[in-house]
Amino acid sequence: MLVELLRGLKTTFKMMLEKPVTIQYPEEKRPVRPRFRGRHELRRYDNGLEKCIGCALCAAACPANAIFVEASENTDEERYSPGERYASTYEINMLRCIYCGFCEDSCPTEAIVLGDQYELSFGDRYEAIYTKDRLLVPVTSGAELTPQRTKPGLYTRSVPEMKDPTD
Ligand code: SF4
Ligand code: SF4
Repeated sequence: MLVELLRGLKTTFKMMLEKPVTIQYPEEKRPVRPRFRGRHELRRYDNGLEKCIGCALCAAACPANAIFVEASENTDEERYSPGERYASTYEINMLRCIYCGFCEDSCPTEAIVLGDQYELSFGDRYEAIYTKDRLLVPVTSGAELTPQRTKPGLYTRSVPEMKDPTD
């Protein structure tokens, strides 16, 4: 009986000297793994143009039917993205999303990316629908917001040239 008690106390004292494994969330946050899939972001090019071209391939690939995309025509006076079209409406219903990443894999311009943001909370169903203004990342310093006025014939390609796979 006494032996068991002393053995138990030994474990207790040993653990008291060890560094705690608990994290004081939300003051302290544990970095996520590189493969983590969190809240989506719609990315931009360095010049501020949106990468999304409104092709809706992500919506077609989504197994949860969580994405809604509506495309409109770009003009050189009012350009949002390279090529003919841009996403005038882009919505993701986060209540449906299962964070599978199929949307990211199917995107031809690498516009939609699942980032590392995991703090998602909603007060009602409508707040769970992330619209384009919430998903689109801010412009980097020196870049121009969309829509931009661009030179005619400069952005004819919707999808950038393929990278050399041997690079
Ligand atoms: S992560 Fe999966 S479920 Fe969520 S929006 Fe993308 S394709 Fe749909
Ligand atoms: S995020 Fe990508 S796949 Fe989805 S509409 Fe935009 S360009 Fe197309």
